[in-house]
Amino acid sequence: MYDVIIIGGGPAGLTAAVYARRAGKSVLVLEKDAFGGQIAQSPRVENYPGFASISGAELADAMLAQAMEQGAEVELEEASAVRVDGGVKTVVCASGAAFEGRALILAAGAKPRMLGLAREAELTGSGVSYCAVCDGAFYKDRAVAVVGGGSSALQDALLLSETCARVYLVHRRDSFRGEQALADALRARMNVEFVLNARVTELLGAGELTGVTVEQEGGTRTLAVEGLFVAVGTEPELAAFAPLLRLDAAGCADAGEDCLTPTAGVFVAGDCRKKAVRQLTTATADGAVAALAAVEWLDRAGGGATP
Ligand code: NAP
Repeated sequence: MYDVIIIGGGPAGLTAAVYARRAGKSVLVLEKDAFGGQIAQSPRVENYPGFASISGAELADAMLAQAMEQGAEVELEEASAVRVDGGVKTVVCASGAAFEGRALILAAGAKPRMLGLAREAELTGSGVSYCAVCDGAFYKDRAVAVVGGGSSALQDALLLSETCARVYLVHRRDSFRGEQALADALRARMNVEFVLNARVTELLGAGELTGVTVEQEGGTRTLAVEGLFVAVGTEPELAAFAPLLRLDAAGCADAGEDCLTPTAGVFVAGDCRKKAVRQLTTATADGAVAALAAVEWLDRAGGGATP
């Protein structure tokens, strides 16, 4: 029986692990994919205090190492359901494993949103990608397109412009939601073309992507690209835990800055929580708040009663 089980080993979950361990609680972190979450796929992080510039993977490794040095246990397991029985939460995993804890922190993060185009799933891995850091190298000296106008799309386009022959940045509006500094850096790249007020409407090619159709005001255009990098935001990964939570229309846990959920002893942290600003700093802040709330709940209620 753990004092705290944390579902999700991204910045929110790993920060929660550090705080809960330093408060003397036993901690298990469950991660289904790769520790570090989305940040592990960020080519450069330049807005996390203390690091002028660091790769996302390096930062993720450092966060995991710190949590483990503090004594957190970690397991690569996909949590698929949670049973709440009084003060005991049983996390059931896809592998069949089950873990018991008294407090639970949901820091499950978010997964990339798809465009919803015909054949998008079929061409994923054959030209369509949701991770420029992972797949960008396959498109050296080729033409690619990035879809989206947030910081992720701008960062992806910057990264790809370093190795690809041509990068089209397709965005549905004429101004970017992402950081101004990233947009300015992109404007200076000679091999980048902005395709604005535009939507990708069709994926071309049989078996492998050979191009995309883009609809813009005034007409349709074909971009001859071998890679399409989709960076149109993320969706929370909370469906499996919905009975414990109050979800908003977007599927985010409707919890305030205190990270409390309607279920006693269950807390939510990071990108899966309803919030206005989703940054590394706000994820780690949530992790600290949720862990301290869990510690207080355990100390006050003994984990067995509603505080
Ligand atoms: P985001 O900020 O939510 O941006 C998503 C973008 O995709 C928006 O430009 C949106 O267009 C567009 N979009 C959404 N659905 C679409 C669709 N169906 N078709 C076409 N376009 C669509 O997502 P993100 O870029 O992944 O960033 C997520 C969070 O991480 C943000 O808070 C961001 O600031 C943060 N982040 C920060 C950094 C950094 O270094 N500072 C890097 C990466 C991410 P509209 O603008 O028209 O809505």
